[in-house]
Amino acid sequence: MKRLLKGGRVVDPANGVDGDFDVLIDGDRIVRVEKNLPAGEGITVVSVPRGLVIVPGLIDMHVHLREPGQEHKETIATGAASAVAGGFTAVACMPNTTPVNDNAGITGFMLERASAAGLARVYPIGAVTRGSKGEQLADIGELHEAGCVAVSDDGHPVASALMMRRALEYTRMFDMPVIDHCEDPTLKADGVAHEGLQASTLGLRGIPGAAEEIMVARDVTLAGLTGGAVHIAHMSARGSLRAVREGKAQGFVVTCEVAPHHFTLTDEALAAPLKYDTNCKMNPPLRERADVEALVEGLADGSVDVIATDHAPHHADEKRVEFDRAPFGIVGLETCVPLTLDRLVHRGLISLARMVELLSVNPARILRRPGGSLAAGQIADITVLAPDQAVTIRAAALKSKSKNTPFDGWRLKGAPAITIVGGRTVFTNAAVAGAEAFA
Ligand SMILES: [Zn+2]
Repeated sequence: MKRLLKGGRVVDPANGVDGDFDVLIDGDRIVRVEKNLPAGEGITVVSVPRGLVIVPGLIDMHVHLREPGQEHKETIATGAASAVAGGFTAVACMPNTTPVNDNAGITGFMLERASAAGLARVYPIGAVTRGSKGEQLADIGELHEAGCVAVSDDGHPVASALMMRRALEYTRMFDMPVIDHCEDPTLKADGVAHEGLQASTLGLRGIPGAAEEIMVARDVTLAGLTGGAVHIAHMSARGSLRAVREGKAQGFVVTCEVAPHHFTLTDEALAAPLKYDTNCKMNPPLRERADVEALVEGLADGSVDVIATDHAPHHADEKRVEFDRAPFGIVGLETCVPLTLDRLVHRGLISLARMVELLSVNPARILRRPGGSLAAGQIADITVLAPDQAVTIRAAALKSKSKNTPFDGWRLKGAPAITIVGGRTVFTNAAVAGAEAFA
């Protein structure tokens, strides 16, 4: 089945494309992107409404889908539904399920559930160490063979430098990155919020930026020692960015990601509009203004590689407890595109092309997956954006099984309109005029 998307703006930075082009899709592949492609026999023409933008499918390389083991928070099917509703054609899911994804059996189960759901592509991430306990290296060869795209003990740091060294040496043989949850456990201790004025005023135990920065510096150094690929997860502190820049300047294989909540919110959100809102409790914590400003600068100048959500669903009952006892994390898949368009693109801090690099080109490259490009022959994973769409975030309306977001009620400009995976339209945003033409 051939489909011709006619008349939209196409932004495809991997191929230097930004302008009005037609996109021809055949089955699950992109045939070509050109001006004024003719509609021939057997081709269904979709006229793209004015103002919509066609980009390579967005990839969220950091999500928690909770299955197996915590299906009351999310399942692979509900997480995949949340992903496509957020404009993502693929997600990479962390191994901190119950049991941990440290063997081929769990990886295979996840892939099976994902294919049964038939929505977003799901790329499992395997554990670095058995049970993510930090004691014994997992069988990374087996995980790679089973389909894992990276390894990580996310949720926990790899506390031992020697263990991280071995993991980097091992993953190098398979050309896989180690995704690195950076946090010095002794400095983090039982902290619950960023160490600073807000935490002291509110009487919350602090987590200094240095807890992250120390381990980022360690692992940048180990990337240099081993030649392995380190990807810093959910980077929050300005000193971490300095260490990443330094590593890149040395030619080490170091990349990093920033989550939308870390470029939109500061620790002031702990005090207002709600005090002690457990939907503002995440790890790493919301930092202070100087950190947020540094991260935004890094997103703009290219030293930050990726925007990833760290989508972390928790049941309402688990979050409805005192701040100290609440679990860390918020859902992110369905708020990422509006936050990025409104807070970064519309404010003139980054271009649409840069947004596509952060959310598609670079995650595909770092995970060595297809996509990130609309070149002829590529998989037809496509996101259509409605950058000028007015949206109000409604937690209750999220497709995710969990509703733990600090952005409930936020009015933003910009939304995903259509999500196409392997040539199939898997999500249509009913609020966007003309979107139904893609069904
Ligand atoms: Zn983490």
